[in-house]
Amino acid sequence: MLLIKYSEIGVKGKNRYIFEDMLVRNIRSALKELEGEIEVRKAQGRIYVSGEENESEEAISALQKVFGIAWICPLEHYGKLSFEEIKQAAIRHMETNFSMDEPHTFKVHCRRADKAFPMTSVEVNEQVGEVLLDQFPNLSVDVHEPEILLNIEIRPYDVNFYSRQIEGLNGMPVGSSGKAMLLLSGGIDSPVAGYMVAKRGVSLDAIYFHAPPYTSERAKQKVITLAKIISRYSGPIRLHVVNFTEIQMKIYEICPHDELTIIMRRFMMRIAEHFAKQEGCLGLVTGESIGQVASQTMQSMLVTNEVCTMPVYRPLCAFDKLDIVAISEKIDAYETSILPYEDCCTIFVAKHPVTKPKLEKIQKSEHRLDSIMDELMQRALETTEVIEI
Ligand code: ATP
Ligand code: MG
Repeated sequence: MLLIKYSEIGVKGKNRYIFEDMLVRNIRSALKELEGEIEVRKAQGRIYVSGEENESEEAISALQKVFGIAWICPLEHYGKLSFEEIKQAAIRHMETNFSMDEPHTFKVHCRRADKAFPMTSVEVNEQVGEVLLDQFPNLSVDVHEPEILLNIEIRPYDVNFYSRQIEGLNGMPVGSSGKAMLLLSGGIDSPVAGYMVAKRGVSLDAIYFHAPPYTSERAKQKVITLAKIISRYSGPIRLHVVNFTEIQMKIYEICPHDELTIIMRRFMMRIAEHFAKQEGCLGLVTGESIGQVASQTMQSMLVTNEVCTMPVYRPLCAFDKLDIVAISEKIDAYETSILPYEDCCTIFVAKHPVTKPKLEKIQKSEHRLDSIMDELMQRALETTEVIEI
């Protein structure tokens, strides 16, 4: 049996049960792949997962991908016990979980939810501690930083022992914050951006701008793989693959080349917002980081952002590249992200793109596309492919 402790949900007041129910649902879905019978139940501000002993490690690693979990504690679970039985169970717990031939420091921490139990928690701590010291000569007490913290919970109908706490991802249960549309390229940044908003409870849809034949089928497959990696954390994603070639070619043909990236990005935002509204999303998410490249200076983002009516979340805006790479590695996206396939942003890129675009000038260049753009946009929207991830 595993005890799941959650942190931030604990402070959600009256709505707390909504968050708890969502977490229970996400836990069930994360454990779906396991073979044996699994029960997930909610009781007194906690969640218990019980299943087959031999699948426990597998269950733990699946739970380590579920946002909203602070700690996962493998439990030894008993029915009602007398104090004599508690002492015996404590000895057994130490023997089975740690090598008692080696020196260890320890501390007993009792929580007594059963107010009818005839001893206080402090008395239990002291007396169980003493029994363990007598039994195992290599043990010594350290109340401040023990290597082994033996938790004993005495509850009205049962008693739990645990001494191992595995850290979860924290964050909020996915689905508790609404949905957003992630602009997902094949790079390093956007998958990390998706992961980060999912951690705040946001479920995701995604959109990828594909420019065949300039971007290959392999580049598209890479984005699908990245969407799958994100979905291990965020749950199902509807990935929209937009055929962007015609729009890009037209911009290339008609607008100044140093403004290409900015104008292209404005069209990406417009299309992303169209699908975001259609899918019931409450915002857009990008992997932009201030100053990383010409299209991500604050001036460029001001001009790009001007076409959006929805909030655009840029969770990486204040992150250095090295910090982004560290998260990318942690979520196992990095190896895929660095595969060297072309991106539509790099195909038609100018040698010297503007780094401080002026809105009026960009709008003026864009107006040259007025007679044709509606038609191209319409075609891009109509031919968009949706892949369920
Ligand atoms: P990334 O590593 O996410 O590709 P980047 O550093 O390469 O980012 P840009 O190419 O300027 O930066 O893109 C900035 C953001 O715009 C990306 O993080 C992503 O959210 C979005 N974006 C760029 N290209 C595409 C694309 N082809 N399809 C969907 N979104 C894109
Ligand atoms: Mg990119």
